[in-house]
Amino acid sequence: EKLSSAQIRKMYLDFFKSKGHTVMPSASLVPHDDPTLLWINSGVATMKKFFDGSVVPKNPRITSSQKSIRTNDIENVGHTARHHTLFEMLGNFSVGDYFKEEAITWAWELLTSPQWFAMDPTRLYVTVYPKDTEAKRIWHEVAQVPQDHIYEVDDNFWDIGEGPSGPDSEIFYDRGQEFNNLPEDDPESYPGGENERYLEIWNIVFSEFNHKPDGTYAPLPHKNIDTGMGLERVVSVFQNARTNFETDLFLPLINETAKISGQAKYGDSAATDVSFKVTADHIRAVTFAIGDGALPSNEGRGYVIRRLIRRAVMHGQKLGIEQAFLYRLVPLVGKIMESYYPEVLQQADYIAKVVKMEEDRFNETLKDGLQLLNEMIADAKQEQLQEISGKVAFKLYDTYGFPVELTKEYALEQGLTVAENEFDAEMQKQKERARKARGNAKSMGVQSGLLTDITTPSEYVGYQTLTTQSVLKE
Ligand code: ATP
Ligand code: MG
Ligand code: MG
Ligand code: MG
Repeated sequence: EKLSSAQIRKMYLDFFKSKGHTVMPSASLVPHDDPTLLWINSGVATMKKFFDGSVVPKNPRITSSQKSIRTNDIENVGHTARHHTLFEMLGNFSVGDYFKEEAITWAWELLTSPQWFAMDPTRLYVTVYPKDTEAKRIWHEVAQVPQDHIYEVDDNFWDIGEGPSGPDSEIFYDRGQEFNNLPEDDPESYPGGENERYLEIWNIVFSEFNHKPDGTYAPLPHKNIDTGMGLERVVSVFQNARTNFETDLFLPLINETAKISGQAKYGDSAATDVSFKVTADHIRAVTFAIGDGALPSNEGRGYVIRRLIRRAVMHGQKLGIEQAFLYRLVPLVGKIMESYYPEVLQQADYIAKVVKMEEDRFNETLKDGLQLLNEMIADAKQEQLQEISGKVAFKLYDTYGFPVELTKEYALEQGLTVAENEFDAEMQKQKERARKARGNAKSMGVQSGLLTDITTPSEYVGYQTLTTQSVLKE
Protein backbone atom coordinates (compact mmCIF):
# COMPACT_ATOMS: atom_id res chain seq x y z
CA GLU A 1 0.00 0.00 0.00
CA LYS A 2 1.45 3.33 -1.09
CA LEU A 3 1.59 6.13 1.46
CA SER A 4 -0.16 9.37 0.54
CA SER A 5 1.66 12.69 0.36
CA ALA A 6 -0.18 13.78 3.51
CA GLN A 7 1.04 10.69 5.37
CA ILE A 8 4.61 11.24 4.19
CA ARG A 9 4.61 14.88 5.27
CA LYS A 10 3.25 13.86 8.64
CA MET A 11 5.78 11.08 9.04
CA TYR A 12 8.66 13.51 8.53
CA LEU A 13 7.29 15.94 11.10
CA ASP A 14 6.46 13.15 13.56
CA PHE A 15 9.98 11.78 13.27
CA PHE A 16 11.56 15.07 14.22
CA LYS A 17 8.95 15.66 16.90
CA SER A 18 10.15 12.37 18.40
CA LYS A 19 13.65 13.90 18.42
CA GLY A 20 12.53 16.88 20.48
CA HIS A 21 11.64 19.32 17.67
CA THR A 22 8.76 21.79 17.74
CA VAL A 23 6.61 21.72 14.60
CA MET A 24 6.30 25.17 13.07
CA PRO A 25 3.40 25.77 10.70
CA SER A 26 4.16 26.74 7.11
CA ALA A 27 4.71 30.50 6.93
CA SER A 28 3.21 32.77 4.26
CA LEU A 29 4.86 32.71 0.84
CA VAL A 30 5.09 36.47 1.09
CA PRO A 31 8.09 37.32 3.25
CA HIS A 32 7.51 39.58 6.22
CA ASP A 33 10.15 42.18 6.98
CA ASP A 34 12.55 40.88 4.37
CA PRO A 35 12.93 43.26 1.45
CA THR A 36 15.72 41.13 -0.03
CA LEU A 37 13.38 38.29 -0.88
CA LEU A 38 10.48 38.19 -3.36
CA TRP A 39 9.12 34.84 -2.16
CA ILE A 40 9.88 32.46 0.66
CA ASN A 41 12.03 29.96 -1.25
CA SER A 42 13.06 27.50 1.47
CA GLY A 43 12.39 26.51 5.05
CA VAL A 44 15.41 28.38 6.34
CA ALA A 45 14.22 31.63 4.73
CA THR A 46 11.54 31.83 7.42
CA MET A 47 14.07 31.30 10.19
CA LYS A 48 16.57 34.06 9.53
CA LYS A 49 15.51 35.77 12.74
CA PHE A 50 16.60 32.73 14.74
CA PHE A 51 19.86 32.19 12.91
CA ASP A 52 20.95 35.82 13.06
CA GLY A 53 20.22 35.90 16.80
CA SER A 54 17.60 38.66 16.68
CA VAL A 55 14.98 36.28 18.09
CA VAL A 56 15.65 33.37 20.42
CA PRO A 57 13.30 30.45 19.74
CA LYS A 58 11.65 28.76 22.73
CA ASN A 59 12.99 25.47 21.46
CA PRO A 60 16.23 25.47 19.45
CA ARG A 61 15.00 22.37 17.57
CA ILE A 62 12.42 23.19 14.93
CA THR A 63 10.84 21.21 12.12
CA SER A 64 8.48 22.35 9.36
CA SER A 65 6.98 21.73 5.97
CA GLN A 66 7.39 25.09 4.29
CA LYS A 67 5.62 26.09 1.07
CA SER A 68 8.25 27.65 -1.16
CA ILE A 69 8.32 29.36 -4.55
CA ARG A 70 11.40 29.39 -6.78
CA THR A 71 11.18 31.57 -9.86
CA ASN A 72 14.61 30.45 -11.04
CA ASP A 73 13.06 27.06 -11.75
CA ILE A 74 10.08 28.29 -13.84
CA GLU A 75 11.60 27.18 -17.12
CA ASN A 76 12.65 23.82 -15.72
CA VAL A 77 9.04 23.01 -14.97
CA GLY A 78 7.62 20.58 -17.47
CA HIS A 79 11.06 19.57 -18.67
CA THR A 80 12.66 17.96 -15.63
CA ALA A 81 11.13 15.27 -13.46
CA ARG A 82 11.82 17.13 -10.26
CA HIS A 83 11.34 20.91 -10.45
CA HIS A 84 8.31 22.95 -9.45
CA THR A 85 7.59 26.60 -8.98
CA LEU A 86 5.69 25.90 -5.75
CA PHE A 87 6.93 23.01 -3.67
CA GLU A 88 7.07 22.06 -0.04
CA MET A 89 10.36 21.88 1.74
CA LEU A 90 10.45 19.59 4.74
CA GLY A 91 13.17 20.62 7.13
CA ASN A 92 14.73 20.21 10.53
CA PHE A 93 16.67 23.01 12.14
CA SER A 94 19.09 23.32 15.01
CA VAL A 95 19.61 26.84 16.29
CA GLY A 96 22.94 26.45 18.03
CA ASP A 97 21.88 23.10 19.47
CA TYR A 98 22.73 19.74 17.89
CA PHE A 99 25.22 19.50 15.03
CA LYS A 100 26.71 17.13 12.47
CA GLU A 101 26.54 13.85 14.31
CA GLU A 102 22.83 14.08 15.19
CA ALA A 103 21.85 15.63 11.86
CA ILE A 104 23.52 12.84 9.93
CA THR A 105 22.43 9.90 12.05
CA TRP A 106 18.83 11.10 12.27
CA ALA A 107 18.69 11.68 8.53
CA TRP A 108 19.87 8.15 7.91
CA GLU A 109 17.49 6.73 10.50
CA LEU A 110 14.48 8.50 8.99
CA LEU A 111 15.35 7.42 5.46
CA THR A 112 16.18 3.78 6.09
CA SER A 113 14.45 2.63 9.28
CA PRO A 114 11.61 0.17 8.55
CA GLN A 115 9.40 2.14 10.96
CA TRP A 116 9.92 5.35 9.07
CA PHE A 117 10.68 5.87 5.36
CA ALA A 118 12.10 2.36 4.92
CA MET A 119 14.05 3.24 1.78
CA ASP A 120 16.44 0.68 0.40
CA PRO A 121 19.88 1.90 1.60
CA THR A 122 21.59 0.49 -1.48
CA ARG A 123 19.70 3.11 -3.51
CA LEU A 124 20.94 6.03 -1.42
CA TYR A 125 24.08 8.08 -2.05
CA VAL A 126 25.46 11.00 -0.09
CA THR A 127 27.82 13.76 -1.10
CA VAL A 128 30.20 15.71 1.12
CA TYR A 129 32.48 18.71 0.77
CA PRO A 130 35.99 17.32 0.14
CA LYS A 131 37.52 19.11 3.13
CA ASP A 132 34.70 18.05 5.42
CA THR A 133 36.39 14.89 6.64
CA GLU A 134 34.24 14.95 9.76
CA ALA A 135 30.98 14.60 7.83
CA LYS A 136 32.53 11.90 5.72
CA ARG A 137 33.63 10.01 8.80
CA ILE A 138 30.20 10.26 10.45
CA TRP A 139 28.36 9.14 7.31
CA HIS A 140 30.65 6.14 7.09
CA GLU A 141 31.43 5.17 10.68
CA VAL A 142 28.28 6.17 12.49
CA ALA A 143 25.55 5.91 9.86
CA GLN A 144 27.40 3.01 8.18
CA VAL A 145 27.08 4.30 4.65
CA PRO A 146 29.57 2.32 2.52
CA GLN A 147 32.52 4.35 1.13
CA ASP A 148 31.42 3.77 -2.45
CA HIS A 149 28.12 5.51 -1.68
CA ILE A 150 29.87 8.67 -0.48
CA TYR A 151 31.00 11.19 -3.09
CA GLU A 152 33.16 14.24 -2.58
CA VAL A 153 31.75 17.22 -4.48
CA ASP A 154 33.53 20.59 -4.69
CA ASP A 155 30.25 22.54 -4.85
CA ASN A 156 29.06 21.28 -1.50
CA PHE A 157 29.65 24.49 0.37
CA TRP A 158 26.71 26.67 1.26
CA ASP A 159 27.69 30.32 1.14
CA ILE A 160 25.69 33.41 0.34
CA GLY A 161 28.61 35.83 0.43
CA GLU A 162 28.48 37.04 4.01
CA GLY A 163 27.22 35.53 7.23
CA PRO A 164 26.74 31.92 8.27
CA SER A 165 28.10 29.38 5.84
CA GLY A 166 29.42 25.87 5.81
CA PRO A 167 29.80 22.57 4.05
CA ASP A 168 26.75 20.51 3.17
CA SER A 169 25.72 17.00 2.26
CA GLU A 170 23.19 16.21 -0.42
CA ILE A 171 21.36 12.90 -0.45
CA PHE A 172 20.45 11.23 -3.72
CA TYR A 173 18.04 8.44 -4.51
CA ASP A 174 19.09 6.10 -7.31
CA ARG A 175 16.02 5.70 -9.49
CA GLY A 176 17.63 2.90 -11.45
CA GLN A 177 19.41 2.30 -14.72
CA GLU A 178 16.35 2.97 -16.85
CA PHE A 179 16.63 6.64 -15.87
CA ASN A 180 20.20 7.07 -17.11
CA ASN A 181 20.33 10.07 -19.40
CA LEU A 182 24.12 9.80 -19.67
CA PRO A 183 26.32 6.78 -20.29
CA GLU A 184 27.34 5.29 -16.96
CA ASP A 185 31.03 5.96 -17.62
CA ASP A 186 30.45 9.64 -18.38
CA PRO A 187 32.46 11.77 -15.92
CA GLU A 188 29.23 13.63 -14.99
CA SER A 189 27.38 10.40 -14.30
CA TYR A 190 27.53 10.29 -10.50
CA PRO A 191 25.20 11.39 -7.70
CA GLY A 192 25.59 15.16 -7.68
CA GLY A 193 26.49 15.24 -11.38
CA GLU A 194 24.29 15.58 -14.42
CA ASN A 195 22.73 12.13 -14.52
CA GLU A 196 19.00 12.34 -13.82
CA ARG A 197 19.07 8.79 -12.59
CA TYR A 198 20.20 10.22 -9.24
CA LEU A 199 17.46 12.33 -7.69
CA GLU A 200 18.47 14.87 -5.06
CA ILE A 201 16.00 14.44 -2.23
CA TRP A 202 17.62 16.15 0.74
CA ASN A 203 20.16 18.84 1.46
CA ILE A 204 21.76 19.13 4.88
CA VAL A 205 23.75 22.25 5.66
CA PHE A 206 26.30 22.27 8.47
CA SER A 207 26.49 25.95 9.16
CA GLU A 208 29.72 26.40 11.10
CA PHE A 209 31.55 29.48 9.77
CA ASN A 210 30.97 33.17 9.66
CA HIS A 211 31.96 34.44 6.22
CA LYS A 212 33.41 37.84 7.14
CA PRO A 213 33.36 40.98 4.98
CA ASP A 214 37.14 40.68 4.53
CA GLY A 215 36.58 37.31 2.87
CA THR A 216 37.89 35.14 5.68
CA TYR A 217 35.98 32.46 7.53
CA ALA A 218 35.80 32.34 11.31
CA PRO A 219 34.27 29.45 13.27
CA LEU A 220 30.76 30.30 14.55
CA PRO A 221 30.39 30.20 18.33
CA HIS A 222 27.05 28.39 17.88
CA LYS A 223 26.82 25.96 15.02
CA ASN A 224 23.56 25.44 13.22
CA ILE A 225 21.80 22.81 11.17
CA ASP A 226 19.49 23.67 8.32
CA THR A 227 18.01 21.01 6.08
CA GLY A 228 15.64 20.86 3.14
CA MET A 229 13.85 17.86 1.66
CA GLY A 230 11.54 18.25 -1.32
CA LEU A 231 8.22 16.68 -0.38
CA GLU A 232 7.12 16.12 -4.00
CA ARG A 233 10.38 14.31 -4.79
CA VAL A 234 10.12 12.01 -1.81
CA VAL A 235 6.48 11.34 -2.67
CA SER A 236 7.57 10.33 -6.17
CA VAL A 237 9.92 7.78 -4.62
CA PHE A 238 7.23 6.41 -2.30
CA GLN A 239 4.60 6.28 -5.02
CA ASN A 240 7.01 4.79 -7.53
CA ALA A 241 6.38 7.57 -10.02
CA ARG A 242 8.48 8.35 -13.09
CA THR A 243 8.38 12.03 -12.23
CA ASN A 244 6.97 14.14 -9.41
CA PHE A 245 3.87 14.60 -11.50
CA GLU A 246 2.55 11.04 -11.36
CA THR A 247 1.72 11.38 -7.68
CA ASP A 248 -1.38 12.19 -5.66
CA LEU A 249 -0.22 15.82 -5.56
CA PHE A 250 -0.45 16.41 -9.31
CA LEU A 251 -2.32 13.60 -11.09
CA PRO A 252 -5.81 14.75 -10.11
CA LEU A 253 -5.00 18.17 -11.61
CA ILE A 254 -3.62 16.60 -14.76
CA ASN A 255 -6.66 14.36 -15.15
CA GLU A 256 -9.05 17.24 -14.63
CA THR A 257 -7.19 19.27 -17.25
CA ALA A 258 -7.44 16.35 -19.68
CA LYS A 259 -11.19 16.26 -19.05
CA ILE A 260 -11.49 19.97 -19.76
CA SER A 261 -9.41 19.56 -22.90
CA GLY A 262 -11.53 16.67 -24.15
CA GLN A 263 -8.92 15.85 -26.76
CA ALA A 264 -5.47 15.53 -25.17
CA LYS A 265 -4.70 12.84 -22.60
CA TYR A 266 -1.68 12.56 -20.33
CA GLY A 267 0.79 10.20 -21.97
CA ASP A 268 -0.27 10.99 -25.55
CA SER A 269 3.01 12.67 -26.46
CA ALA A 270 6.08 14.20 -24.87
CA ALA A 271 4.98 17.66 -25.98
CA THR A 272 1.48 17.53 -24.50
CA ASP A 273 2.86 15.98 -21.32
CA VAL A 274 5.00 19.09 -20.86
CA SER A 275 1.85 21.19 -21.14
CA PHE A 276 -0.01 19.05 -18.60
CA LYS A 277 2.89 19.34 -16.16
CA VAL A 278 3.20 23.10 -16.60
CA THR A 279 -0.50 23.78 -16.09
CA ALA A 280 -0.72 21.52 -13.01
CA ASP A 281 2.40 23.06 -11.50
CA HIS A 282 1.57 26.68 -12.21
CA ILE A 283 -2.02 26.60 -10.97
CA ARG A 284 -0.76 25.27 -7.65
CA ALA A 285 1.73 28.11 -7.32
CA VAL A 286 -0.74 30.76 -8.44
CA THR A 287 -3.46 29.47 -6.10
CA PHE A 288 -1.16 29.49 -3.09
CA ALA A 289 0.38 32.84 -3.96
CA ILE A 290 -3.00 34.55 -4.32
CA GLY A 291 -4.19 32.78 -1.17
CA ASP A 292 -1.27 34.41 0.63
CA GLY A 293 -2.36 37.84 -0.51
CA ALA A 294 -0.41 38.46 -3.72
CA LEU A 295 -2.22 39.61 -6.89
CA PRO A 296 -1.33 39.63 -10.57
CA SER A 297 0.31 42.87 -11.65
CA ASN A 298 3.08 44.21 -13.80
CA GLU A 299 5.89 44.11 -11.28
CA GLY A 300 7.52 42.18 -8.50
CA ARG A 301 5.51 39.33 -7.04
CA GLY A 302 2.48 40.25 -9.10
CA TYR A 303 4.45 39.90 -12.28
CA VAL A 304 5.52 36.41 -11.28
CA ILE A 305 1.86 35.43 -10.84
CA ARG A 306 0.97 37.01 -14.17
CA ARG A 307 3.84 35.25 -15.87
CA LEU A 308 2.82 31.87 -14.42
CA ILE A 309 -0.83 32.27 -15.40
CA ARG A 310 0.07 33.33 -18.91
CA ARG A 311 2.59 30.55 -19.37
CA ALA A 312 -0.06 28.09 -18.20
CA VAL A 313 -2.70 29.57 -20.51
CA MET A 314 -0.35 29.19 -23.47
CA HIS A 315 0.18 25.56 -22.56
CA GLY A 316 -3.58 25.16 -22.22
CA GLN A 317 -3.83 26.28 -25.86
CA LYS A 318 -1.46 23.49 -26.81
CA LEU A 319 -3.93 21.08 -25.21
CA GLY A 320 -6.71 22.55 -27.31
CA ILE A 321 -8.24 24.58 -24.48
CA GLU A 322 -9.55 27.90 -25.80
CA GLN A 323 -11.53 29.16 -22.81
CA ALA A 324 -10.47 30.19 -19.34
CA PHE A 325 -9.86 26.94 -17.44
CA LEU A 326 -7.20 27.38 -14.80
CA TYR A 327 -9.67 28.92 -12.40
CA ARG A 328 -11.68 25.68 -12.50
CA LEU A 329 -8.68 23.86 -11.02
CA VAL A 330 -8.43 26.13 -7.98
CA PRO A 331 -10.90 24.21 -5.76
CA LEU A 332 -9.13 20.98 -6.68
CA VAL A 333 -5.79 22.41 -5.56
CA GLY A 334 -7.55 23.33 -2.32
CA LYS A 335 -8.92 19.80 -1.93
CA ILE A 336 -5.59 18.08 -2.61
CA MET A 337 -3.82 20.26 -0.07
CA GLU A 338 -6.67 20.51 2.42
CA SER A 339 -5.27 18.45 5.27
CA TYR A 340 -2.26 20.72 5.79
CA TYR A 341 -3.50 23.96 4.19
CA PRO A 342 -7.27 24.18 4.87
CA GLU A 343 -7.20 27.93 4.25
CA VAL A 344 -6.71 27.43 0.51
CA LEU A 345 -10.02 25.64 -0.02
CA GLN A 346 -11.72 28.21 2.18
CA GLN A 347 -10.53 31.00 -0.11
CA ALA A 348 -11.09 29.08 -3.33
CA ASP A 349 -13.94 31.26 -4.65
CA TYR A 350 -11.96 34.44 -4.27
CA ILE A 351 -8.80 32.93 -5.73
CA ALA A 352 -10.71 31.47 -8.69
CA LYS A 353 -12.24 34.87 -9.41
CA VAL A 354 -8.85 36.55 -9.56
CA VAL A 355 -7.43 33.79 -11.76
CA LYS A 356 -10.39 33.84 -14.14
CA MET A 357 -10.17 37.57 -14.61
CA GLU A 358 -6.50 37.31 -15.45
CA GLU A 359 -7.13 34.42 -17.84
CA ASP A 360 -9.99 36.18 -19.61
CA ARG A 361 -7.91 39.27 -20.01
CA PHE A 362 -5.04 37.35 -21.59
CA ASN A 363 -7.33 35.25 -23.77
CA GLU A 364 -8.64 38.44 -25.39
CA THR A 365 -5.24 39.18 -26.88
CA LEU A 366 -3.62 35.76 -26.97
CA LYS A 367 -4.78 34.72 -30.44
CA ASP A 368 -3.72 37.96 -32.10
CA GLY A 369 -0.45 37.95 -30.19
CA LEU A 370 0.33 34.40 -31.20
CA GLN A 371 -0.46 35.21 -34.79
CA LEU A 372 1.97 38.11 -34.74
CA LEU A 373 4.60 36.01 -33.03
CA ASN A 374 4.23 33.14 -35.48
CA GLU A 375 4.50 35.54 -38.41
CA MET A 376 7.66 37.02 -36.96
CA ILE A 377 9.14 33.58 -36.45
CA ALA A 378 8.29 32.60 -40.02
CA ASP A 379 9.81 35.85 -41.34
CA ALA A 380 12.98 35.37 -39.32
CA LYS A 381 13.34 31.85 -40.61
CA GLN A 382 12.70 32.93 -44.16
CA GLU A 383 15.42 35.54 -43.88
CA GLN A 384 17.65 33.05 -42.11
CA LEU A 385 17.91 35.23 -39.03
CA GLN A 386 18.65 33.73 -35.62
CA GLU A 387 16.79 36.40 -33.76
CA ILE A 388 13.41 38.10 -33.40
CA SER A 389 13.47 41.85 -33.02
CA GLY A 390 13.18 43.30 -29.52
CA LYS A 391 10.66 45.80 -30.83
CA VAL A 392 8.27 43.00 -31.70
CA ALA A 393 8.86 41.36 -28.34
CA PHE A 394 8.01 44.68 -26.76
CA LYS A 395 4.85 45.05 -28.80
CA LEU A 396 3.86 41.56 -27.74
CA TYR A 397 4.44 42.56 -24.15
CA ASP A 398 2.81 45.95 -24.27
CA THR A 399 -0.15 45.35 -26.55
CA TYR A 400 -0.79 41.64 -26.22
CA GLY A 401 0.34 41.01 -22.66
CA PHE A 402 3.05 38.47 -23.47
CA PRO A 403 5.64 38.35 -20.69
CA VAL A 404 8.98 38.63 -22.47
CA GLU A 405 10.20 35.41 -20.87
CA LEU A 406 7.30 33.65 -22.57
CA THR A 407 8.12 35.13 -25.95
CA LYS A 408 11.72 34.02 -25.47
CA GLU A 409 10.69 30.51 -24.52
CA TYR A 410 8.30 30.26 -27.45
CA ALA A 411 10.91 31.55 -29.88
CA LEU A 412 13.51 29.18 -28.48
CA GLU A 413 11.28 26.21 -29.27
CA GLN A 414 11.73 27.32 -32.89
CA GLY A 415 15.48 27.76 -32.44
CA LEU A 416 15.37 31.56 -32.27
CA THR A 417 16.41 34.11 -29.68
CA VAL A 418 15.00 37.54 -28.89
CA ALA A 419 17.08 40.72 -29.20
CA GLU A 420 17.02 41.53 -25.52
CA ASN A 421 18.92 44.81 -25.65
CA GLU A 422 16.37 46.14 -28.07
CA PHE A 423 13.54 44.97 -25.84
CA ASP A 424 15.12 46.62 -22.79
CA ALA A 425 15.58 49.85 -24.70
CA GLU A 426 11.90 49.88 -25.69
CA MET A 427 10.92 49.19 -22.10
CA GLN A 428 13.08 52.06 -20.94
CA LYS A 429 11.47 54.42 -23.45
CA GLN A 430 8.04 53.40 -22.29
CA LYS A 431 8.91 54.00 -18.67
CA GLU A 432 10.15 57.43 -19.62
CA ARG A 433 6.89 58.20 -21.43
CA ALA A 434 4.90 56.94 -18.47
CA ARG A 435 6.91 59.10 -16.10
CA LYS A 436 6.28 62.18 -18.22
CA ALA A 437 2.59 61.36 -18.52
CA ARG A 438 2.34 61.01 -14.77
CA GLY A 439 4.13 64.29 -14.35
CA ASN A 440 1.60 66.02 -16.63
CA ALA A 441 -1.30 64.40 -14.88
CA LYS A 442 -0.03 65.63 -11.52
CA SER A 443 0.42 69.11 -12.77
CA MET A 444 -3.19 69.05 -13.86
CA GLY A 445 -4.11 68.29 -10.29
CA VAL A 446 -5.21 64.70 -10.82
CA GLN A 447 -4.52 62.83 -7.62
CA SER A 448 -6.19 59.49 -8.04
CA GLY A 449 -3.73 56.69 -8.70
CA LEU A 450 -6.35 55.00 -10.79
CA LEU A 451 -6.81 57.91 -13.16
CA THR A 452 -3.07 58.47 -13.34
CA ASP A 453 -2.59 54.92 -14.49
CA ILE A 454 -5.17 55.33 -17.20
CA THR A 455 -3.31 58.29 -18.62
CA THR A 456 -0.17 56.24 -19.13
CA PRO A 457 0.41 55.05 -22.69
CA SER A 458 0.01 51.41 -21.74
CA GLU A 459 -3.73 50.82 -21.77
CA TYR A 460 -3.01 47.42 -20.48
CA VAL A 461 -1.78 48.56 -17.08
CA GLY A 462 -4.77 50.83 -16.67
CA TYR A 463 -7.29 48.13 -17.36
CA GLN A 464 -5.55 45.78 -15.00
CA THR A 465 -5.64 48.28 -12.21
CA LEU A 466 -9.37 48.67 -12.62
CA THR A 467 -10.13 44.99 -12.73
CA THR A 468 -7.96 44.09 -9.78
CA GLN A 469 -9.58 46.74 -7.68
CA SER A 470 -13.05 45.64 -8.57
CA VAL A 471 -12.20 42.14 -7.40
CA LEU A 472 -10.95 43.46 -4.11
CA LYS A 473 -14.18 45.32 -3.52
CA GLU A 474 -16.34 42.23 -3.92
P1 ATP B 1 18.34 20.80 -7.65
O1 ATP B 1 19.84 20.66 -7.70
O2 ATP B 1 17.60 19.54 -7.92
O3 ATP B 1 17.82 21.97 -8.44
P2 ATP B 1 18.77 22.31 -5.28
O4 ATP B 1 20.11 21.81 -4.84
O5 ATP B 1 18.70 23.58 -6.04
O6 ATP B 1 17.98 21.15 -6.10
P3 ATP B 1 18.16 22.98 -2.56
O7 ATP B 1 18.35 24.45 -2.64
O8 ATP B 1 19.23 22.16 -1.96
O9 ATP B 1 17.78 22.43 -4.01
O10 ATP B 1 16.77 22.72 -1.80
C1 ATP B 1 16.59 21.67 -0.86
C2 ATP B 1 15.67 20.58 -1.42
O11 ATP B 1 14.46 21.12 -1.91
C3 ATP B 1 16.27 19.84 -2.59
O12 ATP B 1 17.11 18.81 -2.15
C4 ATP B 1 15.03 19.31 -3.28
O13 ATP B 1 14.59 18.11 -2.69
C5 ATP B 1 14.01 20.40 -3.03
N1 ATP B 1 13.87 21.33 -4.17
C6 ATP B 1 14.70 22.34 -4.53
N2 ATP B 1 14.25 23.01 -5.59
C7 ATP B 1 13.08 22.43 -5.93
C8 ATP B 1 12.11 22.68 -6.93
N3 ATP B 1 12.24 23.69 -7.81
N4 ATP B 1 11.03 21.88 -6.98
C9 ATP B 1 10.86 20.86 -6.11
N5 ATP B 1 11.74 20.57 -5.13
C10 ATP B 1 12.83 21.35 -5.03
MG1 MG C 1 18.07 24.00 -7.96
MG1 MG D 1 21.36 20.48 -6.08
MG1 MG E 1 20.74 21.06 -2.98
